[in-house]
Amino acid sequence: MSKTLRIAIVGAGPAGTYAADIVTSSELPPGYDEIAVDLIDADPTPFGLIRYGVAPDHPRIKEIVKALQRVMNKPEISFHGNIRVGRDISVDELRAHYDAVVVATGARRDADLNIPGIELEGSFGAADFVSWYDAHPEASTEWEFSPEATSVAVLGMGNVALDVARVLAKTAEEMLVTEIPDHVHAGLAANKAVDVHVFGRRGPAQAKFTPMELRELSHSPNVDVIVHPEGFEFDEYSEEYVKQNKAQRLVVNVLTSYLAKDPKPDAACRIHLHFGAQPTEILGEDGKVVGLRTEVTELDGTGNGRGTGEFIDWNVGAVYRAIGYKSDSIEGLPFDFDRNVIPNEAGRVRDESGMAVPGAYVTGWVKRGPIGLIGHTKSDAQETIANLLEDLATQGVGAAEENQGFDGVRPMLDERGITSTTWDGWLSLDAHERALGEADAHTRERVKVASREEMLRVAAGALAR
Ligand code: NAP
Repeated sequence: MSKTLRIAIVGAGPAGTYAADIVTSSELPPGYDEIAVDLIDADPTPFGLIRYGVAPDHPRIKEIVKALQRVMNKPEISFHGNIRVGRDISVDELRAHYDAVVVATGARRDADLNIPGIELEGSFGAADFVSWYDAHPEASTEWEFSPEATSVAVLGMGNVALDVARVLAKTAEEMLVTEIPDHVHAGLAANKAVDVHVFGRRGPAQAKFTPMELRELSHSPNVDVIVHPEGFEFDEYSEEYVKQNKAQRLVVNVLTSYLAKDPKPDAACRIHLHFGAQPTEILGEDGKVVGLRTEVTELDGTGNGRGTGEFIDWNVGAVYRAIGYKSDSIEGLPFDFDRNVIPNEAGRVRDESGMAVPGAYVTGWVKRGPIGLIGHTKSDAQETIANLLEDLATQGVGAAEENQGFDGVRPMLDERGITSTTWDGWLSLDAHERALGEADAHTRERVKVASREEMLRVAAGALAR
């Protein structure tokens, strides 16, 4: 009798999809004749961060879906959307029906910043703003742009800070070539920011940008990029680091060229980059943001910043913190709340006592934290899948009691009234969004559907199959 290796991968973003690709391309462990992989996602759609994290004006990065789509088309791989593991189905229920469960849920929430004023109206997390402009089904359809907020602050010097600054600086019309739905366009039209101040707590050698994204900042004719000379400093450590590190050298070169260039007088909006500025307080009046206080920092000789005791107050009407993301815990699996990852050793999930949790694996940002570009999750998945297959080979066949895969899961979802989506459902929604784009006055490649109900409705034709 043939024996199928059944793997559930929780999260159908790049990390989960790469894991599915690698495991279906690997040699099966002894005792198995075939493999079936189910990619399960809380979103009704596949592609995770590519659909709901990459900025809409970054179509080049969104092209990665083509490679992911090829993986999804493998006959051994199925997609099941609109199912939140830990709520709609438990991890233990999955473990009973699969030989292994691989968690690849990424990092979607804003890291905490504990400074006074964080709760004020007009103090935002970048993850929430990104979810809004990327039209995530759980994001509100409205964004509170204050008409007084002509000057705004963005905290952090990473690529998310650049995305946020760029989207705030561009005109709503410029964004109309992208896939944003009407409510996002209307929201952006209400944005009055003309000065976007980005703050880094260390120097240019410590900026986390990638060179291409930094260069792109100046591509809009409506935007001028201004690097301020205060804090544009290097200690010996930083100079050596820049010498040794080509990507950082490119970043510093771009920043230096911004620093030296003439202002663009006809630009409608300016993005200011400030170094050596540690945010210490968001200033408020009547519960609303009216400013940001930063402490001037200096490099301490090891590339770290230390406070100088000198403070500067900036008049800004909104503060967006883009200081990194964090992962959510999943009911039924251990979680390290200090590092915001599922504790693991090379992808094998470990409990509080360091013991392996049988059949549970992890890959991507929820494994190692939200660092690195999309492609980096491939090597992560390679390590996790190699260990998973090794465990199956050494611990033998039949890890799961019932091993029915999604056939075992479906009745439980039905009983709980959970409507799941399929790959065919996604193809229907994809075609629908492309048709909306084609019919749009601006003839766009796609216009996104934001409402979960609408997505389920469009996918429903395929659901019936
Ligand atoms: P990131 O690259 O880690 O940058 C976070 C920034 O926040 C750093 O400048 C960091 O400064 C700063 N920060 C952290 N804690 C802070 C605090 N308490 N006070 C002030 N500043 C603080 O994170 P990210 O921008 O969220 O990006 C996550 C990953 O996604 C990155 O690998 C990024 O490249 C990738 N990404 C890529 C793109 C793209 O277009 N290619 C777009 C978005 C994201 P320190 O260095 O001093 O800690």
